[in-house]
Amino acid sequence: MSTKTVRTICFDCHSRCGVLLEVEDGKIVGVKGDKDHPISHGYMCPKGRACMEIIYHPERLTKPLIRVGEKGEGKFEEVSWDKALDVIAKKLLETREKWGAESVVMGQGTTRGMPPWIYRFMGLFGTPNFISAGHMSGAPIALASALTAGCSLADPDYANSKCILLWAHNPKNSYPGIYNYFLRKGLKEGAKLIVVDPRGTSYARKADHWLQVRPGTDVALILCFINIIIENELYDKDFVEKWTEGFDQLKECASEFTLDRVSEITWLPPEEIKAAAVTYATTKPAALGPGMGGCCQNINSFDFARTLTILAAITGNLDVKGGNVNPVAPTLRRSCYGSDYSIERTITKEQFSKKIGSKKYAGLKFLPPTPELIWDAILKEDPYPVKFFGLFGTNPMVAYANSKQVKKAFKALEFQFSVDYFHTPTTRMADVVLPAAHWTERDDIEDLMMKGHVFCQIKAVEPVPECRCEKEILIDLAKRIGLEGYWKTLKESLDYRLEPIGMTFEEFKKVGKYSLPMEYKSYEKRGKFYTPSGKVGLCPKYFEEWNLNPIPVYREPPESPVSSPDLWKEYPLILTTGRRILSYYHSSLRNIPSLRKNAPDPELEIHPDTCKSLGVKDGEWVHLVTPRGKVEIKIKEFEHTNPKVVHSPHGFWYGREDGWEKLNINQITDNGPKDPVTASVSTKALLCRVEKM
Ligand code: SF4
Repeated sequence: MSTKTVRTICFDCHSRCGVLLEVEDGKIVGVKGDKDHPISHGYMCPKGRACMEIIYHPERLTKPLIRVGEKGEGKFEEVSWDKALDVIAKKLLETREKWGAESVVMGQGTTRGMPPWIYRFMGLFGTPNFISAGHMSGAPIALASALTAGCSLADPDYANSKCILLWAHNPKNSYPGIYNYFLRKGLKEGAKLIVVDPRGTSYARKADHWLQVRPGTDVALILCFINIIIENELYDKDFVEKWTEGFDQLKECASEFTLDRVSEITWLPPEEIKAAAVTYATTKPAALGPGMGGCCQNINSFDFARTLTILAAITGNLDVKGGNVNPVAPTLRRSCYGSDYSIERTITKEQFSKKIGSKKYAGLKFLPPTPELIWDAILKEDPYPVKFFGLFGTNPMVAYANSKQVKKAFKALEFQFSVDYFHTPTTRMADVVLPAAHWTERDDIEDLMMKGHVFCQIKAVEPVPECRCEKEILIDLAKRIGLEGYWKTLKESLDYRLEPIGMTFEEFKKVGKYSLPMEYKSYEKRGKFYTPSGKVGLCPKYFEEWNLNPIPVYREPPESPVSSPDLWKEYPLILTTGRRILSYYHSSLRNIPSLRKNAPDPELEIHPDTCKSLGVKDGEWVHLVTPRGKVEIKIKEFEHTNPKVVHSPHGFWYGREDGWEKLNINQITDNGPKDPVTASVSTKALLCRVEKM
């Protein structure tokens, strides 16, 4: 019997926890957290611990499939890899010939290491149209903080902080492997905790200040914080004077967000708002953690992230130890989303200018089109037809807003291939389905949000026959269509990525990680922030060059007691969707028995008083109704919410075709009104009612 222990990185969510895999005779027989990993420190969640169940699951896709039935019917026949790739390659070339390269869209669900390979493929092929979940998970934060301050807000230094502000963020379930160790350390060492969240998360319940904000009104609250801080001269005057642009305009804009007005908008007592703002501004250093979904799934997503960046900046908390730091990956230009891989680098200017949405939404000059815009292109040929989808590990049918429209779009597509571990409602619509290798079965490099470290993901076992690494699938496709300039082997592509640190992948495997020391206040050394003016743009002139409004704007959610009072009479509860469940990652893993046991059904968190008035009780199945229809959901009495606000998880289905449309929340979400910069849609502040079944 041969045995070995492989030190690698889990990738069943973005935390990428360090793990030790026990391998016996080419099979994984054990997994545990790596205590020496500098970020996760031995932590593993139930998903990572279930890796053997995932890899050796009887329903895992193990053969390439070609659809023989109707779309969605689930009838496929097994084919060879050669046949499957030939079909895709032929269709790629035919589509480009007939409709133009831009009518081919590629996409992924969550990042999982694929952007460098997909982006380069797309750029060389000639299409600028890529879809992902970015618009509702982090992309607006990345864009807004980059344009405002040339850095990212996503790396709060909780461990060294004296004040931790979690805004719409619950690190217990969201990126736990990245944040929890440092957050607990900071709190243990006495940091104050402020949580802004309509939902009483475990962190909210133990916070020094918990602001139970009305969903969708955060920008008004942030501007009120800024107003209080400026009025009371609690801002960092030195920093503001030397390093910011547009302070007077910010002061004027924020002055409209008085305590009384914002108290009315947000349903928060004025004294609580003021106390939290003063604690944040006067307890230094302070680290601000924005929630990826919490901040991004609304029609204010750009200004939400932008005003949070401004808040961190004017209080002197940008790029300081214990504040919002800016670790630089040693592989920066070749990091996961590094500039060396951007589509723009390999595509022609003419083709890039065709990116869907980029003329209408200023933010989409920088970000990919949102899926909602792609559905319009498929269904209405607006601005031109989209005919071909190549999808990697993504389940838009279940995971994206207004899944009824998503289904129509998938039905109308001319061709689709999907690469995944298991069948999903999305793979069942595909013409070709390819079985993906698991993270234990592939080599990779991880540096995104890894605090200045680069980690090696080492293949521990050969893939279950005939699963294949997604990167190799793209390399094979590139060869078939004669894509000049693409890598010829996986080794070549991994070596290319590591070139900046002077190692080949084989050499990197031996050391496992590469790190740079943390630097603070790097803008002082450089003499500038990475913005056009070299300063943090509070209300910057340079925004005008990008057709952006220099002044932050608060927009009332499109459905709300204020903006649609008549609808509120019919639908008297506010619905937030997208609550994370630790056992699942978005819509994935519903068919894994140990995980399913933890969270068998979709549950609607609702206040016990509201249950009483509706005559429903804990565990009862009800209809949740919005103006777009109804779904079935189970009541979970939850006292830590406003009686007028209910919370549902997202992405629910049962891992098979057993009536997911009856219970998936996106059957009743909307993809209509959009953020004017990023085109994000509102899934966090909708109106609903509960009906007995
Ligand atoms: S949090 Fe869980 S799923 Fe995510 S990387 Fe860590 S162990 Fe894996």
